[in-house]
Amino acid sequence: MEEKTNNSSQNQDKRIAMFTPHADPLAQLGSQESGGQNIYIRSLATELDKRGWSIDIFTRWDEPHKKSVSLMGKRSRVIRLKGGPAKYVPKNQLFDHFEELYSNFLNVIDHQNPYSLFHGHYWDGGWMAIKACRQFSKPFVENFHSIGMIRFKTKEKYLKNQNERIFIEKRTALEKEIIDRSSIIISLSETEKNDLHSLYEAPLEKITVIPGGVNLKQFTKIAKEKAREKLNINKDNFIILYVGRLEWRKGIGTLITAIKLLKSEVPNLEILIVGGKIYGRQKNFSDFKEYQRLLKKTEEEGVKEIVHFKGRIDHVQLPLFYSVADVFVVPSYYEPFGLVALEANASQVSVIASRVGGLQTTIKDGETGLLFEPRNCLDLKEKILKLYTSKDLAEKITKNAYENVKKNYSWTNIADKIDQIYKSLINRNKQ
Ligand code: UDP
Repeated sequence: MEEKTNNSSQNQDKRIAMFTPHADPLAQLGSQESGGQNIYIRSLATELDKRGWSIDIFTRWDEPHKKSVSLMGKRSRVIRLKGGPAKYVPKNQLFDHFEELYSNFLNVIDHQNPYSLFHGHYWDGGWMAIKACRQFSKPFVENFHSIGMIRFKTKEKYLKNQNERIFIEKRTALEKEIIDRSSIIISLSETEKNDLHSLYEAPLEKITVIPGGVNLKQFTKIAKEKAREKLNINKDNFIILYVGRLEWRKGIGTLITAIKLLKSEVPNLEILIVGGKIYGRQKNFSDFKEYQRLLKKTEEEGVKEIVHFKGRIDHVQLPLFYSVADVFVVPSYYEPFGLVALEANASQVSVIASRVGGLQTTIKDGETGLLFEPRNCLDLKEKILKLYTSKDLAEKITKNAYENVKKNYSWTNIADKIDQIYKSLINRNKQ
């Protein structure tokens, strides 16, 4: 980018730099490259912008056709920095591009009107925030979104083999440094807070739990018959839906085996798997590999005819997909938060989720959804059957969950809390 970014007319006290190298908030969602973190930052920055904050969101330039700067809201921007090739780079290769990203950050910012606070996202954004916070002596807020040691332990527990050891060691060392250097850590759930404390010795008083949210205007109930007509789905089928990235830790394999067990007991069963850049010329290599693995599994389990891989669907189209479903399943082995559960709650479809991470907070077993033991296909099958046979239970949990998201998970509430954190850190830094 040749020009300096110039927002000098803006109130210096309300200028924030966010760092999210691998997750462009304006990217299309639903592949390896982009998911919950992207939508979290997009939603949060949009709300903070309404409260008068000018947020510059620095991300890695990962596609040649993208603009170097895109405007967001009235006064915020997404700024794309050169750092490595202008294409998708797997996260374990990002370390190689940090220095270039940071020097390009320094090249584009307005040094006369610097930022009053840095907000890092994930460990790659945390790396940049550490550098900026040191150089400019400003506070630093961190959101991990996911933590390396849990990811590592989950893989070790279920897969036994562990081929990422060197990368995970590097990542967790950086995560420890981020914990030390940050002024405050925003955790998406109590589970994550406890994990940061027990595994990384993060001081509890440094961690504030603020969950993710859902756009209640976008995710609303659409009449099931109408939605099915639009998507050309048989009105008599029992539809189970999955939405999310195609990644081993999402547990789609467990769902496929549960479907095999369920098939003889539920006629007209149909499963929709939404997510993954798996079709067309733009397909993502890792998504496609996982899709091939899962497709093979559907063949082995004898359910290929009833499991349909829909590929990545635009976020704006998703309310229609949620609305066709009888049951929404989140079968993850590890899930730091799981925005999709809230989207399903808001769309008023019953949710079954595995008892892991943030899902244990958003879904109260028997009240706002059903929980099952991660990787236990029999348990999952039984929970689906429970909802299939009891309309009353399905209606009860769906209604409770809808009330719960309306009350606790709007982006307005979440942005209010983060607005307060920014203000108090900035004031403290001035004293
Ligand atoms: N998503 C989407 N299209 C897809 C698949 C997923 O828009 O084809 C969105 C989904 O609606 C959700 C996000 O990607 O907002 C996934 O977030 P989540 O927290 O569930 O998972 P993560 O990506 O953080 O692992």
